Amino acid sequence: MKLRSLHDLYVSNLKDLYSAESQIVKALPKMIKNASAPDLQDALQMHLDETREHVNRLQRIFEEMDSSPGRKKCKGMEGLIEEGQEIIGELAEPEVMDAGIIAAAQKVEHYEISGYGTARAYARLLNFEQAADLLGQTLEEETRADAKLTEIAVSEVNRQATNGEHEAMTAR
Ligand code: ZN
Ligand code: FE
Repeated sequence: MKLRSLHDLYVSNLKDLYSAESQIVKALPKMIKNASAPDLQDALQMHLDETREHVNRLQRIFEEMDSSPGRKKCKGMEGLIEEGQEIIGELAEPEVMDAGIIAAAQKVEHYEISGYGTARAYARLLNFEQAADLLGQTLEEETRADAKLTEIAVSEVNRQATNGEHEAMTAR
């Protein structure tokens, strides 16, 4: 399809986001299962619930436009999730696995934050106020999820993940 206007580009970006969110809903349960720190499991579980709502919001935006998300595949998210799954496939100490899961999840959040920032800006330019508002709500939840992951990483997980190194050094 030829993109003739900012509106076309906006719809194309929304389709991408819809695909990205749907992929995350499928991928997160496996991340949760492989996480060890209860804080991390809780944060990911909470974000899974939020992510389902993100899918719903996008559906509402499409319905308002009498449009549908179609079958566009977000290849960026596909790659990010693949990288997360590579980490889960590794043999790792639980703390190190947690640190890896956080790193992968934060890449996902940053990708979404970027996508929603753009989509909301387009919605505003096109005077889709309700859509801009919904996209802004999701953007806020992505930003909070990212901040929460930073907090968990800094406060416990990364520190615990360095314990193995201390032990290895004192054994020398
Ligand atoms: Zn989301
Ligand atoms: Fe997210």
